[in-house]
Amino acid sequence: MAIATISPVTGEVLERFDELTPEELEDKLARAAAAAASYRLTTPEQRAGWVEQAAAHLEKETDSVARLLTTEMGKTLRAAREEVVKCVRGLRFYAAEAPAFLRDRPGDGPGVGARQTYVTYQPLGVVLAVMPWNFPLWQAMRFAAPALMAGNVGLLKHASNVPRTALYMEQLFRDAGFPDDVFQTLLISSGRVEQVLRDERLAAATLTGSEPAGRSVAAIAGDEIKKVVLELGGSDPFIVMPSTDLERATDAAVGARCLNNGQSCINGKRFFVHADVAEAFIGMFVAKMGALVVGDPMDDGTDVGPLATESGRRDVEAYVEDAVSKGATVLVGGERPDRPGWFYPPTVLTDISPDMNMFHEEVFGPVAQVWTVSSLEEALRIANGHPYGLGSNLWSEDEAERALFVRDVQSGMAFINGNTTSYPEIPFGGVKRSGYGRELSDLGMREFMNAKTVWIGENADGTS
Ligand code: NAP
Repeated sequence: MAIATISPVTGEVLERFDELTPEELEDKLARAAAAAASYRLTTPEQRAGWVEQAAAHLEKETDSVARLLTTEMGKTLRAAREEVVKCVRGLRFYAAEAPAFLRDRPGDGPGVGARQTYVTYQPLGVVLAVMPWNFPLWQAMRFAAPALMAGNVGLLKHASNVPRTALYMEQLFRDAGFPDDVFQTLLISSGRVEQVLRDERLAAATLTGSEPAGRSVAAIAGDEIKKVVLELGGSDPFIVMPSTDLERATDAAVGARCLNNGQSCINGKRFFVHADVAEAFIGMFVAKMGALVVGDPMDDGTDVGPLATESGRRDVEAYVEDAVSKGATVLVGGERPDRPGWFYPPTVLTDISPDMNMFHEEVFGPVAQVWTVSSLEEALRIANGHPYGLGSNLWSEDEAERALFVRDVQSGMAFINGNTTSYPEIPFGGVKRSGYGRELSDLGMREFMNAKTVWIGENADGTS
């Protein structure tokens, strides 16, 4: 895939970028290793100061950065602004909280024959982040903020369609005053990730993206015995029980399916609605999906912009065509509009069956699948049959239903009466084929740290 900024609104190539030459890549790896050797000796308070500076710079540039995101991948300008604001918040969270996360953890001494034991958290070194385009700033920032606070050095291999955002991030950390080469962007194709992963100067990696990319990176990292965190696909269940408020649940359902033009790994993609409220829910949901304004993402009145890439739209269309050919019913949408750019309308389907590809894969666009179920147990049985287990949602006022949902849903995150969202304060990640490891909170930061056990005995003369 060529590294280029291409307008999803018009299909026009706005800028092409040269890949790093082998010599340039070698230079960047050498610089990263050299930076890691000294950066690990900085204090958490020094790092917090630089991270604070990055937050201040980004905050000042909110509008121009939001326009950059919208230009490169087509999310609405409103959504892009929210993404930038979230990044500022994420940076500030780690600047404030990470020094406490990094404190040594005292352990038992006498019980293990020691005068003192403790666990000290140390950075691993150079960490590679392979990132997707859908939240081009937030995905990379939620790696960078904790990694840099932990004393690690970051290398970013971003998706090939968001090179301007990738280069902006390197610039942001440079402007914030971080030591040289602590965060570098690598403009390389995915085929060259293996070389970086196998390089002895690289300590660990994180990948957010598709299942095939995750499988490939995990296999190489496994071969090299290097730590890897994987945040992969999702096809989250969104379960609606009769006790819920349908106005609120349908608003949330529309948000879940159309947020980021339908291109979010989390948030409901499969809607399981109890039979007692199915007719009402479907009527309201379809009306609200059909009323959304699809158009230029720079316009304030637009609800849904284009999909980010031409191939992404082809994939979405293929899922819908496959389902319809096997008996699915289209309640709204389902036809690409006759206009330039990679637009696809908000779409609702029913009559989904296991022979359809979307039943067990992920549709990365504004397409909802709706099932009518007779119980929460039935919803969970179908939901858990999917290979993915990222987020999950229940809409219910009933305590017993909530408890059953939390106990039995197979997902890394269970959100009740609210859409799945990532926050710096709480862990994010999945189970099953959605990947492993966690991002965000203290757990995310510790993924790339050596929790070193320290055991100190008495001195030879018995003194301590
Ligand atoms: P993708 O094709 O897997 O791309 C993601 C990143 O991986 C890009 O930087 C890509 O580089 C790189 N890549 C692709 N194939 C690779 C390989 N074989 N080896 C190494 N790197 C490789 O994913 P996408 O289609 O752009 O993004 C959508 C997917 O990401 C969806 O499945 C979505 O659910 C998932 N996602 C998950 C999360 C989460 O937190 N769980 C968040 C956002 C998105 P190139 O661009 O150069 O190909």
